[in-house]
Amino acid sequence: MPNPIRRTVNALLRKTAAAPAGTTAPTRPCAMDAPAEIHIRFDGVGKIYPGGVQALQEQSFAIRRGSVFGIIGRSGAGKSTLLRAINMLERPTAGRVLIDDVDVGALDEDALVGLRRRIGMIFQHFNLLSAKTVRENVGLPLRVAGIGAVETRRRVEELLDLVGLADKADVHPSKLSGGQKQRVGIARALVHRPEILLCDEATSALDPETTHAILGLLRDIKAKLGLTIVLITHDMAVIRALCDEVMVLDRGRRVEHGPVWSVFGTPKGDATQALLRPLRRGLPEDIAARLLPEPPGQGGGHAVLSLRFTGESHPEGVSLASLLALAPDARLLHGGIDRIQGHAQGDLLIAVPVAAMRSAAGARFTPDSWKVLGYVADNV
Ligand code: ADP
Repeated sequence: MPNPIRRTVNALLRKTAAAPAGTTAPTRPCAMDAPAEIHIRFDGVGKIYPGGVQALQEQSFAIRRGSVFGIIGRSGAGKSTLLRAINMLERPTAGRVLIDDVDVGALDEDALVGLRRRIGMIFQHFNLLSAKTVRENVGLPLRVAGIGAVETRRRVEELLDLVGLADKADVHPSKLSGGQKQRVGIARALVHRPEILLCDEATSALDPETTHAILGLLRDIKAKLGLTIVLITHDMAVIRALCDEVMVLDRGRRVEHGPVWSVFGTPKGDATQALLRPLRRGLPEDIAARLLPEPPGQGGGHAVLSLRFTGESHPEGVSLASLLALAPDARLLHGGIDRIQGHAQGDLLIAVPVAAMRSAAGARFTPDSWKVLGYVADNV
């Protein structure tokens, strides 16, 4: 399988291996035979900024080739620092970042420039030059790299076609919508045919419909070009729609990391739960207002139960029979089941007659967790 980044890195290795003694050289040049599935490896990476802010505690983890890896966390958690350590826009103060097992921090400046061309990056505010046309914006990195005008034009047209902007080549960014500007940003990030795309809040300035379209485009180009994508977002819907794995950072520490369905289905830490709260369906206000701590009257009323399905025990879906076994006259009040990476998960709020709760105690009842939130009178 063609592997341009590996070829580039090999060429750079040959170059740095031939460099005079005393210049930096990759520490493990023979490691190019490493297992193909690991693309980017963080090996004890930490960062303390001048002035003493510890933005990243020492982190070790790997990103698989061809995967979409999401990073979430509160503001100041260290997400940008971590993302920018991949192309050394921020140099770690501890540990190593390895791409195809090459220590990126050990490359000399020329080698690093070459490597950065293989890593595209897109930003929240697009970073387009307003005085240049779309064609010039996309072609600029090629011209800077010394690519001729004919080849530049050919590649730019190919990319504008890919991002659906073939008819906007000669307009200026001010005439474009936010979504179109980000398409230009994506085309520009792809000019050197990278294997890695870094996305720093790339959809944060866009409305939901445009975000949806840009996510579709990213999914498309990932499939066509076989990219590894690493992205930061505060939009959990982006993680859910696009990522294979998600990492949660909190105060520079990796507090959770795993497949999206697993982290979203069973968020463990406080930081993760806070980030995911907007996705959870809470208790509706009208029911909260009527909730009683004890059953009303003599064994009457309904118990209000919150059921949680994490996707762990019921990946194929939630059995209606198990709900009916709990109580045939249970009522669905609120909630829903989503599918994430083929796992059915979500929350259901149900009302069960208090009298039926006793007989239901022995029923085959199979949410991953459940609790009685309180009681309401019969007319819920
Ligand atoms: P996030 O992207 O999660 O918002 P950052 O990686 O930007 O977090 O920042 C992590 C921490 O490092 C924050 O406390 C931030 O103030 C600090 N920080 C970021 N950049 C610098 C810098 N250039 N100099 C000093 N401190 C910085």
